[in-house]
Formats: sequence, C-alpha cells, structure tokens
Amino acid sequence: MNVETIKSGKCPVCGSNEVYDNRGTNQTADRKYISVSAMYSFSVEAFVCMNCGYFKEFITDESMKNEKLKEKVKEKWNKTSSGKIG
Ligand SMILES: [Zn+2]
Repeated sequence: MNVETIKSGKCPVCGSNEVYDNRGTNQTADRKYISVSAMYSFSVEAFVCMNCGYFKEFITDESMKNEKLKEKVKEKWNKTSSGKIG
C-alpha cells in the first residue's frame, strides 16, 4: 500500500511535517473507542496537522490485528459498496 497518509508524519493536504498524534498518551479525547458489540470495540487514534488543521482518525494497529474484533465487524456492520445507497 503506497497511499500516503498522515500516519507517515507528513500532512497529505499541505505537505507540512507539523503532524501530531495522540498515540501512547493518556488520551482524554472525546472519542477513544468505537463500539462494535457489547464485548468488542475499536480503539481510535487521532492525527492532526498543526499547519492546516487537517484531522484524521484511525483504528489502531492493535485493533486491526484483533481477528475476533474484525469478525464481529463483518457480522454486525454493512459491507460498503458503491452505488447501492438506500
Ligand atoms: Zn496540513
């Protein structure tokens, strides 16, 4: 995957390196988890460009390695496909 994202430390919008994230901090973000079921939730990390204000949230790598969590998502959520809204 060669898509450039803000995760690289470089803002994909303005090209600035003034990118900060809340990984590994004692987050007090208003959105730290996204519930999938009673048992499972994604943990979320946020990135912001201090130059242009571009802001992006990602599911953490840790959550993406959780196969049971991912199975739950496939069970509970809709698979996104184009041209089939409603
Ligand atoms: Zn930027």
